Amino acid sequence: MIDRTKKFIVIASPTFICNASCSHCGIPSDIDYKKILSPEELYISIKNVLTSFYKQYLDNYEIHFVFHGGEPMILGIDYIEKFIRLTEKENYQYFMQSNMILYDKKWRDIFKKYDFKVSTSYDFYGDIRRLKTGEDYYKTWSKNVKQYIQDTGRRIQTIVTLNRKNINYIEEMIDIANELNINLELNCIRPTGRALKNHSNNFITPGEYGFAMAKAYTYGKKYQDMKVRYGHTIEKIVSENTSLPCPFTRNCIDTIFMIDSNGNMHKCPIAMQYSFPHFGNALSNQLDMKRFIKFKTLTSYSVEDCNGCNICNNGGCPIDRISGDIFLRERNTYCVSYRILYESVLKLNRLEIKEVINI
Ligand code: SF4
Ligand code: SF4
Repeated sequence: MIDRTKKFIVIASPTFICNASCSHCGIPSDIDYKKILSPEELYISIKNVLTSFYKQYLDNYEIHFVFHGGEPMILGIDYIEKFIRLTEKENYQYFMQSNMILYDKKWRDIFKKYDFKVSTSYDFYGDIRRLKTGEDYYKTWSKNVKQYIQDTGRRIQTIVTLNRKNINYIEEMIDIANELNINLELNCIRPTGRALKNHSNNFITPGEYGFAMAKAYTYGKKYQDMKVRYGHTIEKIVSENTSLPCPFTRNCIDTIFMIDSNGNMHKCPIAMQYSFPHFGNALSNQLDMKRFIKFKTLTSYSVEDCNGCNICNNGGCPIDRISGDIFLRERNTYCVSYRILYESVLKLNRLEIKEVINI
């Protein structure tokens, strides 16, 4: 039987308030930190997006709903339960991207009750993470992460932002991740928000990013249970022919959207961080159909330079291919990163090259 269910990833930042003030935070400085979207407003905003842009799927859709921030635990348990009650008759699965600083028994119970998948972030080897209370960030974070793993038996996915300093400690980071029983997702620092102001000397090149991901993937293999993204993503794509997730896809307009604390609809948090024009206000149902269709049309163009290489789905993440209002029909900025990683995944696993790649 053909599964006609449409799966959406809906990322929501009902608040941008945070209990930390990290020096590389990508949230634009002009964001309205005071505004909090209520559970009802959030629910209406999502409904309006689905009705305006994805009407044909309204009878049969599945939502992977991600509470994002700011710090989503700041919203409190009542907020989360209220939103869940609004959505409980629909096909929702709940996720949370949190800094875990407020994690306690109450959150443990909520996560268990609604089968939340929780992910976190921490940037080892550096002092870019600060708590507003002045407490030691790592101490609180690692204590709560250990408790979460003990409570749930789940390895927690942890985003690490690679920068010029911590890129020299890839093996050490993997060893720590093994001790903590966590999985890693390696992102690289981007020139947005506070990072633009505070970290101009800390950016890394796409080549450095590629070699760092390859090293992490290769070294991480010595620990059987550990997953290091994006090496494992590419491994799955090659060996199991799975579909491409963000940031390798250029078709995300059909599967991912974000709602901010004003009810605006963005492509995703990265698009918002780069201050890309949003698709209008979902809360007041004033959505910009023209802009949505334009974005969709532009991202459907193929990239001649890709020459049959399909590692990042012919050009990959649209954000890395847009300059101002012009869509570049060129290879993705991170093309070289993905190809370095792809080669090392193939080599390490002695997998056959299935696509033509001309590096
Ligand atoms: S635009 Fe890029 S970062 Fe945003 S969802 Fe799509 S692939 Fe991911
Ligand atoms: S050539 Fe580069 S941009 Fe094109 S699909 Fe391959 S990795 Fe992606």
